[in-house]
Amino acid sequence: MAKEVICIMCPLGCRIEVHVEGQEVKQVQGERCKKGVKYAQQEVFFPGRILATTVKTDSPEMPLLPVRSDKAIPKERLIECMKHISKHSVKGSVKLGQTVIENILGLGADIIACRTKPFATT
Ligand code: SF4
Repeated sequence: MAKEVICIMCPLGCRIEVHVEGQEVKQVQGERCKKGVKYAQQEVFFPGRILATTVKTDSPEMPLLPVRSDKAIPKERLIECMKHISKHSVKGSVKLGQTVIENILGLGADIIACRTKPFATT
């Protein structure tokens, strides 16, 4: 069985065909570099995505703080993670890159701030 994957590791976006038998990769075609082989194999067996969203804050100046996961999260758990994040609220100041939710749902990924948030002034 062959599956087509579009590599997202760089802007070239190679179309990679992965030939699979059972749980084994037999052949990979269409990649222009080794990063694509690794990405395609992972995408076929363990598809995941970096989760980018916002989290509520206590600041009227910045009511939503942009955040992202520091690692790929399995695709089938993304909605669950979004619901979990929606229940959180960030209080006080946060620095760019600071963890706002550690090890979300035990998946081994932290949710980190994509911007610095100063203390709320009101
Ligand atoms: S296979 Fe390599 S060159 Fe092609 S999109 Fe992926 S990273 Fe870029």
